[in-house]
Amino acid sequence: MSTLDLTAAEVASQRFVSVAIPVPLRRLFTYAVPAQLAGAIEIGSRVAVPFGRRKVAGYVVAAAPPPDAAISVKVKSVAAVLDAQPVFDAELLQFLMSAADYYMHPLGDVLRTAAPALETRSLSQLRQQGFLELGESLTGRRVAVRTLRVVRALVDRLPEERIGPSQARVLARVIERREVPVQELLPLVKNPNAVARALAAKRWVAIEERDAPQDRFFAQAAPSEPAPTPNAAQQAAIDAIVAKLGQGGGFLLHGITGSGKTEVYLRIIAEARARGLGALMLVPEIALTPQLVARFRARFGDEIAVLHSELAERERAVSWQALRSGSVRLAIGARSALFAPVARLGVVIVDEEHDASFKQEDGFRYQARDLALLRAQRAAAVCVLGSATPALESYQLAQQNRLTYLQLPERASARAVLPPIEIVDLNNMRSGPTGAYYLSAPLMAAIRDSLAQKEQVILFLNRRGFAPSMRCQGCGELLECPACSVSLTKHRRAARLRCHYCDFHMPAHGPCLRCKSTDLIELGLGTERLEDELRAAFPSANVARLDRDTAAAEGTGAAVERLRRGEIDILVGTQMVTKGHDIPNVTVVGVILADQALAFPDFRAHERTFQLLTQVAGRAGRGDRPGRVLFQTFQPEHPAIVHARTHDYLGFCRWELRVRRELAFPPASRLAAVRVDAGDPLQANRVCQMLADLARAHRLVQSDAVQVLGPAPAPIERLRGRYRFRFLLRARERAALRQVASVIARRLDDGVAPARASLDIDPYSML
Ligand code: ADP
Ligand code: ZN
Ligand code: ZN
Repeated sequence: MSTLDLTAAEVASQRFVSVAIPVPLRRLFTYAVPAQLAGAIEIGSRVAVPFGRRKVAGYVVAAAPPPDAAISVKVKSVAAVLDAQPVFDAELLQFLMSAADYYMHPLGDVLRTAAPALETRSLSQLRQQGFLELGESLTGRRVAVRTLRVVRALVDRLPEERIGPSQARVLARVIERREVPVQELLPLVKNPNAVARALAAKRWVAIEERDAPQDRFFAQAAPSEPAPTPNAAQQAAIDAIVAKLGQGGGFLLHGITGSGKTEVYLRIIAEARARGLGALMLVPEIALTPQLVARFRARFGDEIAVLHSELAERERAVSWQALRSGSVRLAIGARSALFAPVARLGVVIVDEEHDASFKQEDGFRYQARDLALLRAQRAAAVCVLGSATPALESYQLAQQNRLTYLQLPERASARAVLPPIEIVDLNNMRSGPTGAYYLSAPLMAAIRDSLAQKEQVILFLNRRGFAPSMRCQGCGELLECPACSVSLTKHRRAARLRCHYCDFHMPAHGPCLRCKSTDLIELGLGTERLEDELRAAFPSANVARLDRDTAAAEGTGAAVERLRRGEIDILVGTQMVTKGHDIPNVTVVGVILADQALAFPDFRAHERTFQLLTQVAGRAGRGDRPGRVLFQTFQPEHPAIVHARTHDYLGFCRWELRVRRELAFPPASRLAAVRVDAGDPLQANRVCQMLADLARAHRLVQSDAVQVLGPAPAPIERLRGRYRFRFLLRARERAALRQVASVIARRLDDGVAPARASLDIDPYSML
């Protein structure tokens, strides 16, 4: 089945299809369907096609008209169909096509981002047929699927007849849980397989073998957790959302930290399941939230597809199949789970919808929260965006009645209330007992009290490493990464100076790359140093740290689990400690430097500060004992800090929306970012200027309906050895912005090599 060039006569007898190919071109390609494949190709099929000298995987997105006979000799044929079934059904394909259109991104790349890896079986077949270069989407690694033996109950109560004690124990457990993996019966009996076989012989249970993704989320038995009765606010939210099941509608669920948003999600999904509808739930970082998955398993059993980055391709393919066939009706995962092929999609939930991780920052740059609304709308599913600190964009949609605003104003558990927040003004504070200004006397006293009561403490500092920068005493300069314009961070445990943006590292003692001096001094404070100082100050306490360094070493969820089990007294960490954890014995939360994020060169700096502070404060006092929160800051009067202190989300939004309107930044306007990088700064600058000139020549820019801001070097001017320039397009109206952006997109299709350029609609990162 090699490439065929067709004669005009052959063209007449052929069917043709439009194929999206993962190349940086915003157009489709026409291929002929050879007779022997005619029955196998459908819209949504993944196919191998000749493309230039390569063979690549593409996606059939439409039937195409026969090409003009005069040029038809150039039409090539589809070489092979790569999957047993089309990878995209109509719902998913249509949605992805509108997503590609919205983000002006090549459809082939969008589809590749969304598609699961190819089955390794067909991959090796293809290799045998000589298709060796099928592109990266096909390089799935081979992973053996573990089979899981489960025991399923065939009776619903213990039988009357005599039954031995071990059989009775096992049968009782199986009946209680409907079905149980055999190995989970081990604590009950020594030989679960033999007991299960004996029970099966009596037809009280059935033993089944299943493909089981090897997955730590399912490593332990689902905990049993009684479902709480929803309170009035939860019930009102549930009712409003359930009323729209099957019809569709968008909701903003604004529930303060600990208000029981998860219970609302669980009830909605339960109702959807009862009606045979599927559900999709997006969470920021699934690895950080094993507790959430456990709660879903306790309610729905193990028929949940948990899609996360640790899944091997083969496991992902198994989940994908199960969702498509409808045998599994619930998918939970991070950003990319948005593309899960949930059958009969009825509910889409975005939990912690304000979280920055929903924005994909390379390749197909999408915002999963926005696409969740789009996908739900197209599927007539309800969409729920939930957060204690909704993004301003979402708040504005609610104000405009494009989302229904639902509020959970109180903490769910009867005794828990939002903790009072104290401001520690670092301008007027003498150094604390250790001599360090950032361990103030009030903070140290609060920690001491909490430890005395056998309670737990979380301290938040958004800088990992020991010291964020180093100054050379020889030349007086900060040590910078040779490839990036950022300073090197000292990591004392590893005894290295590291760049946090690339792989560069060097010995902690230098020498300075500029003057070879080894006389280096540490500047500033990172989590490693904070951890050390707290160890010294509280020698009998268990102090631990959670940041990307410890997560890499012990696995992301590990520290949180140890905190939950009470093995940690003080947890120091970066924003990983702010996310969603529900640990009742944490009573003190301290923010080491509340104004840290305010200095960011980003119009969302206030918003991000407010969100971080509110979220981290929300970790305190979730159980029976009251919580206490301390914000240490040099800017005690800053509105982001003042509103966080008073738990005043709406007040913050009113203030910040005014700021955004004055500055004409989103949500008061629409943005697109054009970014260019190249190894040579002049080249990068020239290409960026050329693209900006192209935009400025547009009549909508000349009439000021669209503004061009820049170009300018990016705040991080150099990254991984490449120089970066960018400009922003800004408009009040999306339609106008799109017109100018599409001119840029067309120009990008022609290539700007050796520079690289990208278009980012609704950009998030300003770095
Ligand atoms: P959120 O996601 O809004 O921060 P959670 O869903 O984690 O809050 O709920 C906080 C705690 O309150 C959890 O321990 C949960 O089990 C409990 N909870 C939720 N709803 C209720 C309720 N109606 N009655 C009692 N406890 C509840
Ligand atoms: Zn030096
Ligand atoms: Zn670097």
